[in-house]
Amino acid sequence: MSSIKLNDFKVQLKIGPFGAMVGREGSEVQVGKGIPGGGQSMIAWVVRDPGDLARRPLRLEEVPEPDPGPGEVRLKVRACGVCRTDLHIAEGELMPPRLPVIPGHQVVGAVDRVGPGVAGIGLRERRGAYWLHSSCGRCPACSRGEENLCPDARFLGFHADGGFAEYVVIPAEYTVPIPDAFCDSQAAPLLCAGIIGYRALRLAELRPGETLALFGFGASAHLVLQVAHHWGCRVVVYTRSRSRQEMARALGAVWSGPPGESPLLADRAITFAPAGWVVLEALKAVRPGGTVAVNAVYMSDVPSFPYRVIYGERTLRTVANVTRKDAAEFMQVAAEVPVTARVVQYPFHQADQALLDLKEGKVDGAAVLLLGR
Ligand SMILES: [Zn+2]
Ligand SMILES: [Zn+2]
Repeated sequence: MSSIKLNDFKVQLKIGPFGAMVGREGSEVQVGKGIPGGGQSMIAWVVRDPGDLARRPLRLEEVPEPDPGPGEVRLKVRACGVCRTDLHIAEGELMPPRLPVIPGHQVVGAVDRVGPGVAGIGLRERRGAYWLHSSCGRCPACSRGEENLCPDARFLGFHADGGFAEYVVIPAEYTVPIPDAFCDSQAAPLLCAGIIGYRALRLAELRPGETLALFGFGASAHLVLQVAHHWGCRVVVYTRSRSRQEMARALGAVWSGPPGESPLLADRAITFAPAGWVVLEALKAVRPGGTVAVNAVYMSDVPSFPYRVIYGERTLRTVANVTRKDAAEFMQVAAEVPVTARVVQYPFHQADQALLDLKEGKVDGAAVLLLGR
């Protein structure tokens, strides 16, 4: 492989199906003259050495194209959502079990190759891939229908290469059809932010007519709000960001404001911010007998707190990963509502910028990478 150092925004590279791709200042694209072994190659964002984004842990590289094995399909990626988990992986707060790894677990693509033994999925069918890449199917958790808790579960963009690439290979059973109601960029954020938000809603045990408090208002929360609203629930939103307070009200929240100011006691709460102190705020904001569901893969320590904060039969639980059932159910519910994602689009070659914007809280809604057709 030869390596080209780009020191100027104006430098253009002719690469694969993207045509001319512009590198950011100082970005280095590994441009190969074919992959050893003679296989095809593709362009992907790769994490080799996780660390602070300032050190640019995510690099655009030419890597071998994946090929589907038995039971797998290959998607030609059309859009991929950018999630806080991708940021945690790039920065090493969630250390991937294998490196290098291609992040991205909200993948919308068209099936372009089908492995042996796959039935019922045709070429060119539009399907989505999400965080759960596979589970063992045999352990006690899988037998209980809790494949999200399977000790051998594998996750996309973490254990297996994800969708910050031209192609991704997934076990066919773990893909979900994309309803026609959604275009590619609308569908992408549904596949993590949406599905896990839906699981959080279910685990929070929200019932029709109840009041739901959301702490943090990013990609997942703004989708959850729309589903809760559809179920006839009132939603209050706690966020410090003025623009997100406004966005929450525009989407139908009955109140939005900073944490600590509690206009009315909620029946259920979901926290999205990766900050432990927010969990306490949420506990204080729910009535006796209420539930707080914590929706975060990574979080700072929860500070110690007086027993009375949780006394009164309040339930505190976490939300971990998703199941195939969550994915299938949510995509149907989302089409029924219908849910509208606030999408901030980035061209594929700006994945690192998307992560930086996410880290700096500049993305109001959901960030999505768009790939060439
Ligand atoms: Zn995610
Ligand atoms: Zn299992």
